[in-house]
Amino acid sequence: MRSKSQLSFQGSALLRVLFYLFVLSVILSGLFLAYALSVYEEPPVDPDWAVSGSDQIPPGAVTVRFSGTATLLFSDGETYWMTDGWFTRPGPLKLLAGQIAPDLAAIERGLADNHVTQLAAVLPLHSHYDHAMDAPEVARRTGALLLGSESTANIGRGWNLPESQIQVLVDRQPVRLGQFVITPIESRHFEFPDPAVRERALGEPLISAPLVPPVRMLDYRVGTAYVLHVSHPKGSWLIVGSAGYVEGALQGFSADTVFLGVGGLGSQTADYMENFWRETVTAVAPSRIIPIHFDSLTAPVAGPFRGQVKAMAVLSGDGTLSWLRDKAAANPALYFNTLPRFEEVVLFE
Ligand SMILES: [Zn+2]
Repeated sequence: MRSKSQLSFQGSALLRVLFYLFVLSVILSGLFLAYALSVYEEPPVDPDWAVSGSDQIPPGAVTVRFSGTATLLFSDGETYWMTDGWFTRPGPLKLLAGQIAPDLAAIERGLADNHVTQLAAVLPLHSHYDHAMDAPEVARRTGALLLGSESTANIGRGWNLPESQIQVLVDRQPVRLGQFVITPIESRHFEFPDPAVRERALGEPLISAPLVPPVRMLDYRVGTAYVLHVSHPKGSWLIVGSAGYVEGALQGFSADTVFLGVGGLGSQTADYMENFWRETVTAVAPSRIIPIHFDSLTAPVAGPFRGQVKAMAVLSGDGTLSWLRDKAAANPALYFNTLPRFEEVVLFE
């Protein structure tokens, strides 16, 4: 028969083993989390679609430079303007736990990478942080007009941008910048399939008072989501910053090229994706599709574009690439192109 002290010795050894196992599992799940938040998938676009920067820029050509997400710089050699102007890319921990604010060094670098010092306008496609948070600082540094919804105007006011540099867009009322005519069309943001996420990101849409950073990521409310129709003597294009749509909204518009925001699209139902295609692409009958907003919001701003972090891919899966490939196969006359980072590409000669 075992003595009492032997039993209690065995008990405390068992406790110690359990304790070590617990510590080990905490360390392992920490390591896994760090891995899942810092390792990126390939972006959901076909490498065969990539175009490189243009060697020759013919005088007067309309060109584009792509900084990732939905930040695009357009120029015809005389007038320069930008969508979003987003360069601050807060990391996952900051986004989850903390408050965010424009990163002045990142903005300075981003403008330098785009070789731009003067802009006629910067136009956030909606007011979420990954579109609008840096636009007032971009406007301040380049003399640009901040063009956007009342919510975007309040991001500008919170940054002390002078009222003379803020202009609120009116649905379907064209704005002329040099030879560019930009028509903002009120649309809808991508509908997150998860009701809780949808409510957090899209419920209570307005920023109704000047927004002074640092603030939490979701304090950048969505505001109005715009699709932009742009026409220029050289060509026409559509910019869809978020994979949402309003049925019939683009009736009467046509465009040579569609910049197609596909962020999150692959997590939607087949019906939603079909409707999105019909209402944005089929509606304007383009000859070229340029996917945008397919890259990670937190990856470094150098090297190739990254897809979402592993953690997100594991949680949501992503059918975007196979859907885009199906569309490319079904529409052989439609060119699919993806842009290099920062390099100038001729859109229309
Ligand atoms: Zn958004």
